[in-house]
Amino acid sequence: MTPAATARLLIVGPQGSGKGTQGVRIGERLGVPVVSTGDVFRANIAGGTELGARVQQIVDRGDLVPDELTSEVVRDRLAQPDAAHGFLLDGYPRNLGQVAHLDDFLAGRGESLDAVIELHVPRAESIARLRLRAEEQGRTDDTTEVIARRLDIYENETAPILDVYGSRGIVDRIDGVGTLDEITERIFAALAARAITPA
Ligand code: AMP
Repeated sequence: MTPAATARLLIVGPQGSGKGTQGVRIGERLGVPVVSTGDVFRANIAGGTELGARVQQIVDRGDLVPDELTSEVVRDRLAQPDAAHGFLLDGYPRNLGQVAHLDDFLAGRGESLDAVIELHVPRAESIARLRLRAEEQGRTDDTTEVIARRLDIYENETAPILDVYGSRGIVDRIDGVGTLDEITERIFAALAARAITPA
């Protein structure tokens, strides 16, 4: 029997890079679940759960939720049956500690990431898009001050994970400026070069 095709992916980019939107498109086309830690935290905050209460202030400030707690959330999610043959991670790992957690977890399953999609968008463009989103969606962490804080964290803590994955030869850097469709096609062209294609 031929094993089922798998795609274990990560999408990385600064806030406002469009990674959430592109992540949903990739997940749909490849038939893999999208695991967005930001979405999980926001849903728990909105739902008034215990996890939501623990993370609310941290998320509102734009700081990172502690690694152990975030990694536990991801491990629980990836243990669900729908993630057995692939997934797209959005927003996790976000620092080197989380990379180590994810490596350990995946190694325990005999797995590793197949590709990391880096959506590259200049900082000024990210800020402009986030201001627009603040007007449209009213997210509590899209204020000017918190936006700057989140972009600083991206540059200082998250960007270094791309060096680690880059040394493994699995990073595809995608120009994140263009129409949504253009960017989606760039991503799928890069994935196709790794033999990751829709069924
Ligand atoms: P996002 O929607 O990915 O920008 O995430 C929104 C917020 O959720 C972040 O600013 C953090 O407070 C929190 N968060 C999301 N993912 C992570 C993560 N991997 N590690 C720590 N905190 C996270």
